[in-house]
Amino acid sequence: MRKLTIGLILPDVLGTYGDDGNALVLRQRARMRGIDASIRRVLLTDDIPADCDIYTLGGGEDAAQVIAATRLAASPGLQAAAAAERPIFAVCAGMQILGRTFYAHGTEAQGIGLIDATTEPLQTRAIGEVAATPTRAGVTAELDEPLTGFENHMGKTALGPDAQPLGKVTRGVGNGAGEAVEGVVQGNIIATYMHGPALARNPQLADLLIARSLGVRLEELPPLEIPVIDRLRMERLSR
Ligand code: GLN
Repeated sequence: MRKLTIGLILPDVLGTYGDDGNALVLRQRARMRGIDASIRRVLLTDDIPADCDIYTLGGGEDAAQVIAATRLAASPGLQAAAAAERPIFAVCAGMQILGRTFYAHGTEAQGIGLIDATTEPLQTRAIGEVAATPTRAGVTAELDEPLTGFENHMGKTALGPDAQPLGKVTRGVGNGAGEAVEGVVQGNIIATYMHGPALARNPQLADLLIARSLGVRLEELPPLEIPVIDRLRMERLSR
């Protein structure tokens, strides 16, 4: 199979709660299938490249998230990658800044508008375990395993007509606006409030991103038998 370059976007500002681990999980699950995968760390001082095969963005505190949004607007490689339908996976602050607007320190800030979502402040911080059943919207149609993660945010994210939720919340808060839903699916962008890192806790989601980047169906990827992951998932989903 061909090479896979995973763009880890702005880990110097978007890397709370081990979200950089999402790129590690993608690289490892690709390598275990014989794919020559590597991570390209894209820092604040770098131009944002448009030619990575998959992109990951993590969470961040309010100040960090404003810096990241400003940088992504100034160096629009991610926007070009989205237009070319490259898979993008974004977590928490990463999700909020892909939307239209978000709040930082009580002030509205501009996102880069790749997803039809707006984020306003929650009354109280959402913190704790979160679980959801995949909605199987759009590119996530093949997902059938429950989603699990850890949320810690002050954002209430409302979706517009072009965005669909990633999951229906069975535990925790998730997007926190109206319906009990979690995350966003729009085109090849998948976003979530789940830290964990999310792709370690949700291997099927990791494989879906790898499959999308290779242009194959999820079921075409050779399965990986890693019993410890199944045990950890059972433990987390039964709590
Ligand atoms: N600063 C954002 C919020 O509190 C995102 C936090 C995060 O990424 N964990 O909503």
